[in-house]
Amino acid sequence: MSGNSQNTLKCDVLIIGAGMAGVAASIASASLGAHVILVESGLFFGGTAVRALHRDLCGWFANTVELPSSTINDGLAVEFVQRMIREPFLGKIRPMGRVHVLSVNPGSVRDMLGQWLTEYSGLQTQLHSRFVDLDYAAGHVNSVRIATRLTTQTIEPGVVIDASGDGAVIGACGAVAAETRVSERQYAGFSFFVTGIEGPGELLPIEIPYHLSHAVKSGVLPHFAKFTNFAPAHEIRSKTVSGTVKLSVPPEEFETEEAKNFAGAVHAELKQRLRTYANAEIRYLSPQIIRRDGLRLRGAHILRSREILSAKKFGDGVVKNAWPMEIWDQKHGPQFRYLAPEEHYEIPLRCLESVEFDNLLAAGRCISVSSRALGSTRVTGPCWSLGEQAGLHAARILTRS
Ligand SMILES: Cc1cc2nc3c(=O)[nH]c(=O)nc-3n(C[C@H](O)[C@H](O)[C@H](O)COP(=O)(O)OP(=O)(O)OC[C@H]3O[C@@H](n4cnc5c(N)ncnc54)[C@H](O)[C@@H]3O)c2cc1C
Repeated sequence: MSGNSQNTLKCDVLIIGAGMAGVAASIASASLGAHVILVESGLFFGGTAVRALHRDLCGWFANTVELPSSTINDGLAVEFVQRMIREPFLGKIRPMGRVHVLSVNPGSVRDMLGQWLTEYSGLQTQLHSRFVDLDYAAGHVNSVRIATRLTTQTIEPGVVIDASGDGAVIGACGAVAAETRVSERQYAGFSFFVTGIEGPGELLPIEIPYHLSHAVKSGVLPHFAKFTNFAPAHEIRSKTVSGTVKLSVPPEEFETEEAKNFAGAVHAELKQRLRTYANAEIRYLSPQIIRRDGLRLRGAHILRSREILSAKKFGDGVVKNAWPMEIWDQKHGPQFRYLAPEEHYEIPLRCLESVEFDNLLAAGRCISVSSRALGSTRVTGPCWSLGEQAGLHAARILTRS
């Protein structure tokens, strides 16, 4: 379906961003025989899930009381979970409040995805390569420029999938519906991984925010320190415990250096206030602040929070989700709005398709949803399945044209 001229590379499907959505899109398109190029500005696969040191992957299961026996979406979601729970990755499905999550080691997501992507001969991956801009005319993307470390490449794709999280491609061609208003932007995240806390650690997810609230009350830490939470690694009942301390930071004013200083201040306070934390050590920090809001596609449908909470289904529903709407509100802190037990809603294909462009799709965080609805659609499970659906749909568009 494609070939290369001397100066320009051609491919069937070009995917920008190798987070959960981009990787799933690549695998889905490549499985159907498309020639795929996956471009990622970072140095690894997995995107935010790896960068933010996620321990709990959310939105993979139905909203049930019992331990789920399968994923809420079929297809690549089933295979993702099967691969993650096998040797050597040993992820575990566990309850978290009213929902279930897949607990993993963040490094294992990166390694597993990296291995998986090598299984397709038609799939070419380019790390350390950045989407720069594109040429388009009459509602069609003609070519895309990618800056690699040494050169700038031009790629002529059949279909482009924006899986950049922040909507880099849709921003460059004006296919944007929405950007969350500054006053409504939610807390961004910054995490650090800590080892050497004295166990057993069952109470740490409560003790850590409790002690940090006291540090806030005494004026030692800013007010958002009280929204910190702790996601333990698997060995919570052993003598020493490790895990990810997840900080909330203001989305606008904070730069990465300030987030690092804030992480240091939180760590120092915990050492003083929490006896079992006295000998804890920071092993690694997120490389950058992780923002929740970015540009989103102008699709034929914009999914709204009321459709999520009323468990709406659509004729063109392609992804199911039962994850609550998580709003990390700057005024009121984190708020969770759950669907009724056993319920789920659907995300229609129209949220992935551009209104203006016939060969542009969005997947993952930058699909066509309202800023509040994004509070539910942005977790890793739906992002993965949205990627898969975008990859499958790209192959359909190619067959049509
Ligand atoms: C603070 C915070 C905490 C979260 N906690 C959890 C959690 O505990 N569990 C959970 O399941 N979900 C969590 N989420 C949500 C989830 O991690 C992400 O929303 C989801 O992983 C997004 O996947 P994605 O593939 O759409 O985008 P991303 O994972 O953001 O991937 C986009 C990729 O595109 C690349 N990229 C961007 N621009 C370019 C460009 N110009 N050229 C090339 N590449 C580019 C980026 O480097 C990145 O790798 C959290 C989100 C945030 C912000």
